[in-house]
Amino acid sequence: MIVIDGSEGEGGGQILRSSLTLAVITGQSFRIENIRAGRPKPGLLRQHLTALQGAAAICGGKYTDETGLGATTVEFYPGNVRAGTYEFAVGTAGSAMLVFQTVLLSLLTADEPSRVVITGGTHNSAAPPFEFIARAFLPLLARMGADINLRLIHYGFMPAGGGRILADIKPVSHLQPLELLERGPQQDIFAEAFFANLPFEIAERELEAIGSHLSLPGPAKRIREVKSSGPGNVMMVTVESEHITDAFTGFGRRGLRAEEVAREVADEAGDYLASDVAVGPHLADQLMLPMAIAGGGAFTTLKPTRHARTNAATIARFLPVETTFEPLDDRRGVTVRIGAAKGQSSGQS
Ligand code: ATP
Repeated sequence: MIVIDGSEGEGGGQILRSSLTLAVITGQSFRIENIRAGRPKPGLLRQHLTALQGAAAICGGKYTDETGLGATTVEFYPGNVRAGTYEFAVGTAGSAMLVFQTVLLSLLTADEPSRVVITGGTHNSAAPPFEFIARAFLPLLARMGADINLRLIHYGFMPAGGGRILADIKPVSHLQPLELLERGPQQDIFAEAFFANLPFEIAERELEAIGSHLSLPGPAKRIREVKSSGPGNVMMVTVESEHITDAFTGFGRRGLRAEEVAREVADEAGDYLASDVAVGPHLADQLMLPMAIAGGGAFTTLKPTRHARTNAATIARFLPVETTFEPLDDRRGVTVRIGAAKGQSSGQS
């Protein structure tokens, strides 16, 4: 059994989610201790518990009896992945998108298509929002050979939740390695202010502010009023380049001025636009796992986050792959390479 210390590196929820995905794919059981010890409220939150239950459901796996909210140690014993129709409910506004990412890569290894419906949050701070997954992450998985159709049925914001997504996932015998070293010339850039049950003026102010930070013309500023069970607001900048699309999101919250939300997004998008790298920091975090499962890949990105380094360490516990971070010549970024660990041959198991 692989023993993981959940307090290592960033000490966040990704250590658990990556371990679950890799355990299901490789058939290795694991014990994780000190779950989310690096977070203010350690242990399993609803989102992590749902990811655990989901990972067990798709493979008939087992985990320590009576594992509940706040648990800091879990043992997980995977079974064989089974295609099917699955429905998971986070039960709060916790991120449905992170639960989706946990089961997605495993279901790609099934022998029949699956359908997954998840209720929870679709636009949560510190998690990928729906549009990020749909526009940035899934098109790259498609280039690796995966056929996934993801739909948003209902928006869910903190704190009300009530969001719903539906995914149809066709299995793929082998994910192909992918190289993303250059993003290529920019083809489009646009900002969107999504809001539900809040004054229209918030979206207008956000768009005005982001427009002046990033010099966006009128048609590139788009208001998206959406239906949701409670109030919510996110501001997103999407950058479409020849070889890749990336998206940068700011999350509105009570007490934070619309102009501040726009400023946060402008800073994040601005760092990416000022560099030549292909992949922004969040996409970098999330690409490592599929590339490791594919047995290889590479991308250029900005300075790797602690999250990315922690994820690399978790991946190496399950797969014979190694992740290296080589500074780029202008030192404004790195090339991340994922490949067979020295003396090993890697590949999907
Ligand atoms: P915790 O660490 O509190 O358990 P968590 O379970 O939500 O939190 P993290 O370990 O912080 O998980 O991982 C969050 C994931 O969400 C990472 O893959 C990160 O890249 C992604 N993410 C966070 N913010 C964004 C964003 N604005 N756009 C896209 N992805 C994001």
